[in-house]
Amino acid sequence: MSPKTYDIIIVGGGIMGSATAYYLMMADPTLKVAVVERDPSYAQASTTLSMSNVRTQFSLKQNVQISQYTLQILNSFEEDMAVDGQKPKIYFRQEGNLFLVAASDEDDARQAFQMQTQLGCRVEWWLSQKIIDHYPLYEPQPFVGGTFGPDDGYFDAYAVLMAYKARARILGAVYIQDEVVRITKTRRGVSGVALSTHGNQTAEYVVSCAGAWAAEVAKTAGIDLPVIPVKRQVFVLDTAFKFEKPLPLTVLPSGLYFRSETGGLILLGKSMADDPTGFAFSWDEQRFINHLWPELAEFVPQFDRLKVVRGWAGLYAVNTLDGNAILGQWPELNGLYLANGFSGHGLQQGPAVGRYLSELILQKPLSLDLSIFAPQRILDNRALSETGLV
Ligand SMILES: Cc1cc2nc3c(=O)[nH]c(=O)nc-3n(C[C@H](O)[C@H](O)[C@H](O)COP(=O)(O)OP(=O)(O)OC[C@H]3O[C@@H](n4cnc5c(N)ncnc54)[C@H](O)[C@@H]3O)c2cc1C
Repeated sequence: MSPKTYDIIIVGGGIMGSATAYYLMMADPTLKVAVVERDPSYAQASTTLSMSNVRTQFSLKQNVQISQYTLQILNSFEEDMAVDGQKPKIYFRQEGNLFLVAASDEDDARQAFQMQTQLGCRVEWWLSQKIIDHYPLYEPQPFVGGTFGPDDGYFDAYAVLMAYKARARILGAVYIQDEVVRITKTRRGVSGVALSTHGNQTAEYVVSCAGAWAAEVAKTAGIDLPVIPVKRQVFVLDTAFKFEKPLPLTVLPSGLYFRSETGGLILLGKSMADDPTGFAFSWDEQRFINHLWPELAEFVPQFDRLKVVRGWAGLYAVNTLDGNAILGQWPELNGLYLANGFSGHGLQQGPAVGRYLSELILQKPLSLDLSIFAPQRILDNRALSETGLV
């Protein structure tokens, strides 16, 4: 491609960076691809701190299609991603997602439900009695019902990340442990990155997959990106009452969500308006006790006795313009591609995003058109609505 050190340098080796490296190398094994990741333990990466849920229950068509692809690949992931006969164990469990619907949201929920079924997703509309038939410990009476996606579920995010990384490396991608301190450019466009200890590295293309640090990385190239880190907490609960069968990821209209975890535990969280912004990772048991437990116990009265076993906090990379991905070439800097702003649903989008970016960069036909997420809308200050109309 060029006399530069690399064809493509990827900033950040989380799910976005590693899936992108994998799809690039799959498409063209002669490429010189480097992934720069400052922390190979991924201690603060959102990928490893996520709830690892995948669902087709979205209201934007492209988000549904992205997850359909993820569900498709997860089913044969262990076979497809084996390295030297060693299969990754990703513990993919399709225990469903149940979204409770408030009367005020019913029209929107029915519209989304119809769109999902038209796209071929398995999703069911349940009235309260059906919810109780399946999950007798729930109290769904305040709601008009719920939508249940039996194919939705969760998996081991770390194992999936490690599988992409291992396969990308086997195919020839290089992982560099370092920090990108600057995206370098010439008048023609991007020219590479400056690293904290390995000096300047040149490349034809730079792809920013820096997660919650996306705005900081973009700033080094003079770009103002509306992406902020927001702390989200997850609590691990040991309830006195033990449920007999797994509980699906259950989402109340307020945003409170929980699901059963192996070992008879419950994982629970909620995005709240006063969640702090910034790079902080402490978690606060009182937040659960004071704010979330009363709401949980109202919906599941048997959960009035429980212990908080532990918890953790991770960062959502929130796109403050419209909460959706910013995906594709930055219009004002040739060769710089962004995969940023995934908020709370980026893990499941990694495979489709990685494939899309590789096709865009290599100018191949698109398997799935995700141009709706193109960065031009940021420059135009044109928010994407829930239905995708701008
Ligand atoms: C509590 C919580 C629950 C979630 N639940 C879900 C869920 O159920 N389902 C779902 O799909 N998504 C979920 N998400 C969202 C999902 O985790 C993220 O959208 C996704 O992991 C983003 O991946 P990424 O690769 O962009 O970012 P990350 O995984 O954060 O990776 C970015 C990497 O870039 C590196 N980096 C940053 N800056 C630099 C630099 N200058 N130089 C070198 N390296 C750098 C970082 O070290 C990091 O490893 C959740 C997130 C949180 C916090």
